[in-house]
Amino acid sequence: MCRLNFSSFVLILVALLSERRSSAERTGLPESTDFLLCRHCGFNVAAGSTVSNVRSPAALSSLNQTLFGVEGVLVQTLRNPLGIEFEVVTARGGTCIGSAQTWQTEHTWFPGHAWKACTCSRCSRQIGWVFEPLQTAEARSLC
Ligand SMILES: [Zn+2]
Repeated sequence: MCRLNFSSFVLILVALLSERRSSAERTGLPESTDFLLCRHCGFNVAAGSTVSNVRSPAALSSLNQTLFGVEGVLVQTLRNPLGIEFEVVTARGGTCIGSAQTWQTEHTWFPGHAWKACTCSRCSRQIGWVFEPLQTAEARSLC
């Protein structure tokens, strides 16, 4: 399994569930953390702290919302070549696993980046896409 590097990011379907777990329950500290959860099995996909706004020039619309305990989360509506629209957020990191398919460079929503579908590490259902800069995608295709 390839690990995401700093320049990689994950585009996650915003229809995921969100759960707030008090860290006080786990650590005794007063802070709390929200998590993005797989809508299919409830597995922890990413911490709210990994949400990172990456704007796509292909976005049909966008707005900022408070989600996963984070203010100003960019929620974008994107359309694939089949005409299917998705509301998505971006994150750097998480447990999403890039599929075994090769990096795709056509129909990318982020110029200069290749993409592949990513799946939940527990139930293997697609939960989004991972994007990698073109310069490093080819080298990482050997993973
Ligand atoms: Zn799942």
